[in-house]
Amino acid sequence: MTSEPEPEVPVTKVARYDIDFSLCIICQGSGGVLIEKPNSHEKVLKFVHDRASYGDGDFSQMSRCLGDLTASDLISKNATWHRKCYQNTVHTQLTKRAKERFEKQIAARGSRRGSTQSHSSDGGTFTRSQSTPYVKEV
Ligand SMILES: [Zn+2]
Repeated sequence: MTSEPEPEVPVTKVARYDIDFSLCIICQGSGGVLIEKPNSHEKVLKFVHDRASYGDGDFSQMSRCLGDLTASDLISKNATWHRKCYQNTVHTQLTKRAKERFEKQIAARGSRRGSTQSHSSDGGTFTRSQSTPYVKEV
């Protein structure tokens, strides 16, 4: 019986996610000056996930890549980004616009039915009591 033990394969690829943490985690582009030791991972995560939920551009994809990574995960991976990418991500105005667009879509989808609400109030028409139906004794 020659049952050789399986050689332990060294795990060279730690990338569980499609993100290269040596690059800007936002645009994944090389080049440019990355921020040294950023401290707003939580904010970036929040905005990415928020904007992803509004269906805003590339953020859905990015949110998927980030998965359930937390801010401390990002810190331990030394995640960083370009200043410009960061500013675009946590852009309150852009996020607000994405949210409004999203809400408008939801509203449009939701209120399609019942858009013809008949306003049948002509002021002071009192309803005459017609609650006594004609019952014929059999
Ligand atoms: Zn970038």
